[in-house]
Amino acid sequence: MVQKTTELYRGKAKTVYNTTDHNLLVLHFRNDTSAFDGERIEQLDRKGMINNKFNYFIMQKLQDAGIPTQVEQLLSDDEVLVKKLNMIPVECVVRNFAAGSLVRRLGVAEGIALTPPTFELFLKNDALHDPMVNESLAVAFNWATEDQLAKMKQLTFKANEVLAALFDAAGMMLVDFKLEFGVFNGEIVLGDEFSPDGCRLWDKATRKKLDKDRFRQGLGGVVEAYEEVANRLGVKLD
Ligand code: ADP
Ligand code: UDP
Repeated sequence: MVQKTTELYRGKAKTVYNTTDHNLLVLHFRNDTSAFDGERIEQLDRKGMINNKFNYFIMQKLQDAGIPTQVEQLLSDDEVLVKKLNMIPVECVVRNFAAGSLVRRLGVAEGIALTPPTFELFLKNDALHDPMVNESLAVAFNWATEDQLAKMKQLTFKANEVLAALFDAAGMMLVDFKLEFGVFNGEIVLGDEFSPDGCRLWDKATRKKLDKDRFRQGLGGVVEAYEEVANRLGVKLD
């Protein structure tokens, strides 16, 4: 049985632990919820548990669809055992509808459909507010190779197909989402998490926001919305 050992890294929402197996890590999902690159942080009761179980559910769906993921085993309410990846410091964002930074940057109306869905890269760097980058910069600065970037893009679009259909069947629009990848034994593998903290989900009928925008925009009912999303998908929480 693999045991948790020392703390490797404490992020804004998760703590990462080493284990007795040097190829594996434990991700601990905390209740901390941050916005604006960590400028605002609050504790939201039950959020760690919901995101951990939600992430495990989604990663299994993606794995079943042929996307290699980090996930090894659900350990507890708020911990999951994962492969230790050499993380690529670039976030992959796909959008099906305009929202968030795209609306701010281009001045387009929130909610317009993007056909075909768009793909963007952002550098993971809070101090610089995660600036938008592109493939050319990522290769020049050795963040990733051209082949790795092509694979990340292909897998992110594949995840979009799988997840947009999954959420649609549960009465939700997958507006946009962010994925992080890493390298394990030379292969590109999906890491980090997929949860309402890193995507936008709207109710199909009312367009009610069911994701972290409730926190960012002070709409209230944040955990209740996350729980509703989990329940609609059939994620077992208790
Ligand atoms: P942040 O670093 O943005 O504050 P988190 O609180 O979610 O984010 O911290 C989790 C950290 O662990 C992130 O830096 C993420 O890149 C990293 N990470 C996620 N999954 C893995 C993995 N499987 N192997 C190695 N590192 C990972
Ligand atoms: N996102 C994320 N982490 C980040 C930046 C973005 O999880 O550091 C997610 C965000 O929740 C949304 C998508 O990526 O689902 C696109 O975010 P956007 O570029 O619109 O930026 P934001 O409005 O979140 O600043």
